[in-house]
Amino acid sequence: KYDEKCANSENLKERPPIVTIMGHVDHGKTSLLDKIRNSRITAKEAGGITQHIGAYMVEKDGKKITFIDTPGHEAFTEMRARGAQVTDIAIIVVAADDGVMPQTREAIAHAQAAEVPFIIAVNKIDKPDANPDLVKSQLAEMGITPVEWGGEYEFVHVSAKTGEGIDDLLETILMQAEIMELKADPTCPAKAVVIESRIEKGKGPVGTVIVKNGTLKKQDSFVCGITYGRVRLIIDDLGKQKKEVKPGEPAEITGFDEAPIAGDTLVVVESDKLAKETADKWKTFLEEREKSKSTKATLEDLQKMILEGELKKLPVIVKADTQGSVEAIKGSLSKLKNEEVKVDVIHSDVGAITENDVILAKASEPKAIILGFNVRPTSGAKTKAKQEGIEIRTYSIIYDLLDDVKELLSGLMTPKVKEEVTATVEVRETFNVPKVGTVAGCYVQDGVVHRGDFVRVIRDGVVIYDSKLASLKRFKDDVKEVGKGFECGIMIEGFNDIKVGDILETYQKIEEKASFEG
Ligand code: GDP
Repeated sequence: KYDEKCANSENLKERPPIVTIMGHVDHGKTSLLDKIRNSRITAKEAGGITQHIGAYMVEKDGKKITFIDTPGHEAFTEMRARGAQVTDIAIIVVAADDGVMPQTREAIAHAQAAEVPFIIAVNKIDKPDANPDLVKSQLAEMGITPVEWGGEYEFVHVSAKTGEGIDDLLETILMQAEIMELKADPTCPAKAVVIESRIEKGKGPVGTVIVKNGTLKKQDSFVCGITYGRVRLIIDDLGKQKKEVKPGEPAEITGFDEAPIAGDTLVVVESDKLAKETADKWKTFLEEREKSKSTKATLEDLQKMILEGELKKLPVIVKADTQGSVEAIKGSLSKLKNEEVKVDVIHSDVGAITENDVILAKASEPKAIILGFNVRPTSGAKTKAKQEGIEIRTYSIIYDLLDDVKELLSGLMTPKVKEEVTATVEVRETFNVPKVGTVAGCYVQDGVVHRGDFVRVIRDGVVIYDSKLASLKRFKDDVKEVGKGFECGIMIEGFNDIKVGDILETYQKIEEKASFEG
């Protein structure tokens, strides 16, 4: 559900692949990461000094690649254990003078378990005793057969010392990324994975994140596991301050309430309030999970929680004559929810409606409505409610109460917008009016055109523009409407490319009150 909001395929754009380097100790992971980092031109261009933020980006043939700057599979595994898969492609480094070693096998096992595709970098190819063929046959024995031997695995010969093969490696990564069609929607609220975290004097908690989807902006409110906050500073891998981070890009950010945990996912939410609420709820949720040890808490659970928090709430206080009625009403009210609205019973009790109930109702945000079933307000409560503008409604039939609440929920829901075509108009002439634009000389074939109407321009049966009328005239005069069989002059907002023969379809948007079902 959460992702559906963002899965607008029109907005999907290619994003840089995120790469982790793994392999046996001393096979050259750190050297390779250093060599790749120093090979980037962007650092010099930007005049920046490389800043270690836990990840960096390089550009190759106009395409970007993000490398996680902590070698080894520990971080990879740790993150996966927390449910965050940040790596798209793994590089398994094998020293050509040493061959496959225990940690090489381990690294491969990790990548395979995570279903992350990997590329073999046969390193130290500059060494006189390098034996790349031995590496290939050792891996082929494990079922990892090189492409040149008829297999599916890319092997690239590199030297982290001389830089030989680095370009090749980057190209191979980009090729793999292309096959994977890594896409994200930069228009939606960001989701980012924390890869490093520390506390810095004067800055407070600092976290390095890689954005997986959406664009992370300064001032965004977010929840990140049990912590939350608002993005204060964004610093990229060149030490430059930025306003936003796009999908696939790394950045260091500040603004966390507490240090985040590597592997946790940061999710941007609507408000600070929702961020704090969700983080608090998440804490309780984790504690309960820990106790029951039943299932793992997942990112989906967190997203469900955020969605729940994003629902528009109708806060109510329920007072009734018996405990049975209270429970029955609460039970029925809890079922009144859909993907947009829900009832939030903030308090319920047996007995008359008291001043205390009114005070509670007032303290709620938005103000709660008091529902009384077979009970009435005390005179003090009545006066107080009047003063504070609190609504009290009383009922003697549960169905009436529920119907009323449904009506209130409908009022909270976004009205449905319906379109109604008002006229079909033919463009017979066009006039260019200097400094004003193009006026279409039109004939109304059907219906009535109104001044404030929306309009679609249809050319050869295809809608080429959708906008609003900028003006509607008969001869020189502005008019309110023009009916069927009459001529008129029309200008369209933002559109001057009108041509003779175009058809204009004018329409109005009619808001229909939504109705709560259920
Ligand atoms: P890591 O433990 O996998 O991170 O390995 P390092 O990057 O620390 O490298 C281990 C040693 O191998 C260091 O002494 C490096 O200088 C050396 N080394 C790394 N890559 C190469 C290479 O391509 N050629 C040569 N000759 N030495 C290398």
